[in-house]
Amino acid sequence: MNINQNYLNLKESYLFSTIAKKVEDYKKQNPDKNVIRLGIGDVTLPLCPAVTEAMEKAVKEMGKKETFRGYGPEQGYGFLASALAAYYQKRNVSLEEHEIFISDGAKSDLGNILDIFSVDNTVLIPDPVYPVYVDTNIMAGRNILYMNATAENGFLPLPDEKMDADIIYLCSPNNPTGAVYRKEQLQKWVEYALEHKAVILFDAAYEAFIQDESLPHSIYEIEGAKKCAIEFGSFSKTAGFTGTRCGYTVVPMELESSGVALNRLWLRRQTTKFNGVPYIVQRGAEAVFTEEGHRQTRQAIAYYLENAKIIGRALNTLGIPYTGGENSPYIWMQCPDGMTSWDYFDYLLEKANVVGTPGAGFGNNGEGFFRLTSFGNREDVLEATRRMEQLGK
Ligand code: PLP
Repeated sequence: MNINQNYLNLKESYLFSTIAKKVEDYKKQNPDKNVIRLGIGDVTLPLCPAVTEAMEKAVKEMGKKETFRGYGPEQGYGFLASALAAYYQKRNVSLEEHEIFISDGAKSDLGNILDIFSVDNTVLIPDPVYPVYVDTNIMAGRNILYMNATAENGFLPLPDEKMDADIIYLCSPNNPTGAVYRKEQLQKWVEYALEHKAVILFDAAYEAFIQDESLPHSIYEIEGAKKCAIEFGSFSKTAGFTGTRCGYTVVPMELESSGVALNRLWLRRQTTKFNGVPYIVQRGAEAVFTEEGHRQTRQAIAYYLENAKIIGRALNTLGIPYTGGENSPYIWMQCPDGMTSWDYFDYLLEKANVVGTPGAGFGNNGEGFFRLTSFGNREDVLEATRRMEQLGK
């Protein structure tokens, strides 16, 4: 037996364990201090009533012989695919139900999609980035090129003709930078992908946070994208499903390589290796698209975005440059006084008892930056920003 040696090439992910350890040590030494976490990437508000009511109803159905359901379709129930298709249609994106695959979340799909691509492909990944894109490709042994997301390009890298890539990762609104691509910028990526016969893996996990109506929620709002892009969506941040688990992947029928529809390959992959999302969860996800469900989930998003505004105002007062927070739950701030991201982490923990995420954990270009999130509760955000303002720059 030989192991997959590529796993040995992974960097240990020290980021969140190091943060947890530092916070734990600090609390042990300072038991009287109230440490506030502004670094969490998980939601804190509960599922909305429309969702839990739909799930309760589904639980009852599962407990009766006449309405019990066993294995469902691997690619998801038609009722949820149809609700999603209607959601896309509101932005004039027409999708067939069989182009939408329901899953247990975007993270699994982002990793699993690589099954349908050759390991010979070269991937292009922004730096800084959601670490899953990098690690899943290292596991497979693929060649990775990085593109710089920096303050100079607004953290939104555009195609570079000198880079020859087969698979391109884009995440908008972005984790960790909070930056959002405009339509004309995405158009450039679609043109590049079509010209280079590349595929774009578009992560739209945070699309529901977009407030500016001129910004695209889906890559399919861009002409030509159905021929070159796969889109990943999630109910995690949209509707608080981080622990409930539901997401989806769109693979348009028009997307082909050497005459083979990628949709067919993904269907084959999913039907072979996946047995579907629980009926109860899919009924809960369907309820997100009812009038009540939509209103209630948007209320939660508005709450988080108000938190982001409060954080943004504090940074403005302090004169600290940042991106994000308006159309995204993430705020990406520059560390003051040229501090490294870990130095600033320690400084903020010790002086203000506030915890964020050091940018260096998201890639080399994250050095000198710090990620704050708006997923906390209002009192904590107000108190944390008050402390940061008091501390000064
Ligand atoms: N994509 C991005 C950019 C994320 O930040 C996250 C979660 O933090 C995910 C995908 C994962 O979403 P899910 O909970 O649906 O697996």
